[in-house]
Amino acid sequence: MHIPGYKTLEEIEKEFNIKFDEEEKRKLNEILKIHPMFIPTYYAKLINWGDENDPIKRIIFPSIYELSEEGEYDTSGEKENTVLTGLQHKYKETVLILATNRCAGYCRHCFRKRLVGIPTEETIKIFDEAVKYVKEHKEVTNVLISGGDPLVLPSEVLENFIAKLSEIPHLRFIRIGSRVPVFYPMRIYEDKKLLEMLKKYSTPNRRIYLVTHFNHPKEITEESKKAIDALLDSKVITSNQTVLLKGVNDDPKVLAELMKSLVQIGVVPYYVFQCRPVKRVKSHFQVPLKEGYKIVEGAKRNLDGHAKRFKYIMSHKTGKIEIVGLDEENDIIYLKYHQAKDDKNVGKFFAKKLTPNAGWLDDLKDLEK
Ligand code: SF4
Repeated sequence: MHIPGYKTLEEIEKEFNIKFDEEEKRKLNEILKIHPMFIPTYYAKLINWGDENDPIKRIIFPSIYELSEEGEYDTSGEKENTVLTGLQHKYKETVLILATNRCAGYCRHCFRKRLVGIPTEETIKIFDEAVKYVKEHKEVTNVLISGGDPLVLPSEVLENFIAKLSEIPHLRFIRIGSRVPVFYPMRIYEDKKLLEMLKKYSTPNRRIYLVTHFNHPKEITEESKKAIDALLDSKVITSNQTVLLKGVNDDPKVLAELMKSLVQIGVVPYYVFQCRPVKRVKSHFQVPLKEGYKIVEGAKRNLDGHAKRFKYIMSHKTGKIEIVGLDEENDIIYLKYHQAKDDKNVGKFFAKKLTPNAGWLDDLKDLEK
């Protein structure tokens, strides 16, 4: 699928009448050799290119801080959860399929930075093998088709995936993870065939959910509203995952406005993710847990029940850990396993000692006895 957009710094300079500093440009080009840039035309127009701190620009435009190699590429243990090429099975009920390495735009904070937009062996090769696996695992109640972004695939390919999964009786719902409503919403509302296909398979017995990824209120535009409306019309239930990002949404007011706007347009706030310690991401995007907790709680103070249904989560190798409390005076943080790789940990509540600027479970210390 062709998506209009910009791949080079020169294209941006020309289109938006900007001149990057030569040294900065040299460094940014070094980064682009490792992690490509793609800014969809529509999304580029949301950026105020004259504002160095524009939050949308931070999300999609490379930064020289990506030269920092602090962190690691696989922070959630995806390699060890891969049971077939392109298929992960971490939590009993859920199978995750990496359908493609392409996206409608490349987020600089992506936790799958190791594979998006670059050649990879990690995406699904033979979809029928995935179907066979799910059929044989009766404990699986849902499949998440992710990537990359599955909505950049031709609608026929997506239909083939959904049709085959829909034949599995023990599947209760199918999820599609996509940032297309944010990056290229017209792909949804202009493609009647896609919408008909989604409507056909989203039935009272097996709903299709689309989990999208809005990070900032500026991403909610007339076009993205139209895309969400078209999905709702096609009986697709939409929810949202946000990543807490330094310089983007690390402000209670911004986060609260995002959640309110999501509810307003019919998207259920689902998770706020702590930014993972990803290589070339962590140094400039991760907000320390202590600060993160205060931002999330600050936002919640301004939200009604619907808008604060989300959980603040660390998606760790061992499971999804909810950040539930903070004793600021004693630097103690309270955590709970919302989901766990090891079933016996589900619901486990525990406390850890914060260290300065701790941003991840592994940065925390055990409490002294
Ligand atoms: S759209 Fe999703 S998978 Fe693609 S770069 Fe952004 S966060 Fe990563």
